[in-house]
Amino acid sequence: MKRAVYIHIPFCKSICSYCDFCKMFYEPKWAHDYLIALKEEIQDRYLEDEVKSIYIGGGTPSCLSIKEIEYLLKLTKIFKRSESIEFTFECNLNDINKELLLLLKQYGVNRLSIGIESFKESNLRILGRKHTLKEAEEKVKEARELGFSNINLDLIYAVPGETTKDLVEDLKLFLKLNPEHISTYSLMIEPHTILNNRQIHPIKEELDLEMYQKIMKILEKKKYIHYEVSNFAKEKKESIHNLTYWNNEEYYGFGLSASGYLENIRYTNTKNIFSYLNGKRSGEEEILSSSGKRDNEILLGLRKRKGISMKEFEKKYNVKIEEVYPIKPLLKNGDLKLKKDYLFIPKEKIYVMNEILLKMI
Ligand code: SF4
Repeated sequence: MKRAVYIHIPFCKSICSYCDFCKMFYEPKWAHDYLIALKEEIQDRYLEDEVKSIYIGGGTPSCLSIKEIEYLLKLTKIFKRSESIEFTFECNLNDINKELLLLLKQYGVNRLSIGIESFKESNLRILGRKHTLKEAEEKVKEARELGFSNINLDLIYAVPGETTKDLVEDLKLFLKLNPEHISTYSLMIEPHTILNNRQIHPIKEELDLEMYQKIMKILEKKKYIHYEVSNFAKEKKESIHNLTYWNNEEYYGFGLSASGYLENIRYTNTKNIFSYLNGKRSGEEEILSSSGKRDNEILLGLRKRKGISMKEFEKKYNVKIEEVYPIKPLLKNGDLKLKKDYLFIPKEKIYVMNEILLKMI
């Protein structure tokens, strides 16, 4: 099984109000030292196997200078790439320009992930972001002209004050850009975020559900495949990288706070930039027992709308799924369904997925 590669760039030029990711303000000195530490980590950890995807995320990788981005892309040359590699680079809309796009193309990036989040001005104000539809149309057009035919857009909904009608209008604008992939996120107000400090409250759960159902309805009508709880893709544009996570397969995680799954160990690097720069990368580590591995297969696999293959599960773990998990009562009450060989959470229950997973594990 080929592995995936995730590389974390923790720098941002401004901080979004909802963000609880591991990030810091961009500073050339920090970026310089960080890229050197990253190179060391990659050289130490990489097992020289063929990889099926590379994902450079953050933070905001596109906020680095063009020279720094080139240095970073050169680092990825170390990986033996499979022929059909998916290589994603996360971009802030405002950073996209011809020079950046040509550089990405030159180093084999074939998928862009753009954090648009919303076009509605009141949403953008609350989220702490700034851009217009016109800018997005120009940048996406430029990327398309330079040959990028796989673009993901992130959409945030359930922003305080937003109505379902607002969301529908927002989604229509997203669809104008004709993205191959849309990742949707219901806004969570996490501790230690600007929104939480401002004592902003989340919207009501019923409204959140109504919005989620609306997204499903609209995107499915537009022929997007709802292949994972929050992710929609045109045919054959499902993310190879993200499917690695949900298929419970191994992947490298490089960089500050990055998580990986290698040789049966799940690890998360330190979140302390000073430690990371000094080569003290280790944070948390968990050696997986066979039951731990199986649990992950369930927790991650049932996020996929297609669900889990019963046969593959048995082949992988040498035990039938019904012998280790209480699927019979869940099939009986409709929390789970079985179609051919696949066990899955039906559409009408996907919103309460976490409760169903709790009953399973
Ligand atoms: S949401 Fe993304 S761009 Fe905004 S501060 Fe967090 S990491 Fe940076």
